[in-house]
Amino acid sequence: MSLIDNTTAFKTNVSDGKSLPISINNITKTYGKVPALNNVSLDIKSGEFMTLLGPSGSGKTTLLMALAGFIRPDHGSIKFGEEEIVLTPPHRRGIGMMFQSYALFPHMSVFANIAYPLKILGRSKPEIKAAVAEVLETVQLQGYESRHISELSGGQRQRIALARAIVSRPKILLMDEPLSALDKNLRELMQVEIRAMHERLGMTTVLVTHDQREALTMSDRIAVLHRGKISQNDTPDRIYNAPNSAFVAAFMGESSFLRVTVTDSGYTYDGKPLKIALNTSVGKTGLLVIRPEKLELFSSHVEHQDSNHFYGILERILFQGDSCLIFIRLADGNLISMRRHNTHVGHASLPQVGSQITVVLPESESIIVANDKEV
Ligand code: ADP
Ligand code: MG
Repeated sequence: MSLIDNTTAFKTNVSDGKSLPISINNITKTYGKVPALNNVSLDIKSGEFMTLLGPSGSGKTTLLMALAGFIRPDHGSIKFGEEEIVLTPPHRRGIGMMFQSYALFPHMSVFANIAYPLKILGRSKPEIKAAVAEVLETVQLQGYESRHISELSGGQRQRIALARAIVSRPKILLMDEPLSALDKNLRELMQVEIRAMHERLGMTTVLVTHDQREALTMSDRIAVLHRGKISQNDTPDRIYNAPNSAFVAAFMGESSFLRVTVTDSGYTYDGKPLKIALNTSVGKTGLLVIRPEKLELFSSHVEHQDSNHFYGILERILFQGDSCLIFIRLADGNLISMRRHNTHVGHASLPQVGSQITVVLPESESIIVANDKEV
């Protein structure tokens, strides 16, 4: 359980007719002996954009498939609004889907692809025609009805897949790695477009991704999965800035970790007291999380108030275009890294490799987490 209070800036908690809340309770799914999901509970608000984020094999697809109805959990409950749907077949759940494994029909026209879910629902021809034209406008491909899928670019195909997912105006939209086949620029453009569409249409959305930046960019809230459990369920800001475990901290970006001791009177590293903003570990040891961009570097010995100071030798500078990654060897032998943005003079003004330096971590950025990385 997260020790951090789950607060979100999200506005609404009731269904407005365009969306439904989702309540997942104690879902377990085991394949053979391996639990893919281990007693997972998660509440998703009406109209919320929730991302399931985690490394490969952490159970993201299994959880999304349970929401879609293609996987039946061993036990547990899933509610859409007030309705228990764990035994409801997929086509009766009223969801839109955009899955990698649920590809477009390549030999059919754009119209036939998008019309498909409406045909299954038995809608009339004029109704289907109007709905397809409207949704093509939503994905900015108006007039593309008669094109064949094979005549479209990768980005256009993703927009058609999205159009098909939302054409029936579902109250819940489920997406599993929908952008992973696209190159970086197109992927980033589509992230913004899908998020904007979500804001216009307001449906409850669950996205699966293993891409941290994608999750941070698109979501109201992120559930980080690790070995079939939710490690942390929080806003993007808190997932990044207040990770509740070393696993989440390491998965969500570059960090160095320093082993600290927790005593009755406070925290120490290498025998020296530390000023700490947040401690989510329990017990006598923990890891101080150091994000490279939170450190400041000084070529002299400084003592800033409300900060922690580390003294060491500048060991290595990697030039990476927009920034430099700098490695610092601390007195006790530990290596930490920091990032500094390259202004026009930035690179040139760094201290020499081999020189004595001070790095400063503000107290407000000093977080201790449990050492669960190897768990
Ligand atoms: P993710 O989408 O996060 O990569 P999955 O939900 O696909 O993870 O898988 C979670 C775990 O369940 C993995 O260990 C995976 O190997 C296992 N798994 C998934 N589907 C099956 C299956 N059909 N049969 C056996 N094991 C499976
Ligand atoms: Mg998957």
